[in-house]
Formats: sequence, C-alpha cells, structure tokens
Amino acid sequence: MTEERVKKTFGRKEGCHRCGRKRGLIRRNGMHLCRQCFREIAPQIGFKKYS
Ligand SMILES: [Zn+2]
Repeated sequence: MTEERVKKTFGRKEGCHRCGRKRGLIRRNGMHLCRQCFREIAPQIGFKKYS
C-alpha cells in the first residue's frame, strides 16, 4: 500500500526538502522531510525522537 502510494505520487513536486526522497515523508509543522532526515534534524530543531 505504501509502495503504491509512492509510485503514484512520484513526479510530484513534493519530496523531502533535504534529500528529495518521497518515501516515508513526514509533513509536520510545515516541514517536508523523509523519516531519515527527520530523525537527523529533529534533535537540532528541538523535536523529540520520532518513533
Ligand atoms: Zn530526506
């Protein structure tokens, strides 16, 4: 299900602002980050760990 969604949305402008990945995208508080980048950035911007 997730995989299909990724394929369908591929080509859209939306993607991780950091690496452009569209997989596992997290949109929270205006951020567009994939899970991986979010985990790396979260501590720096004061976010608690994303689990
Ligand atoms: Zn990313």
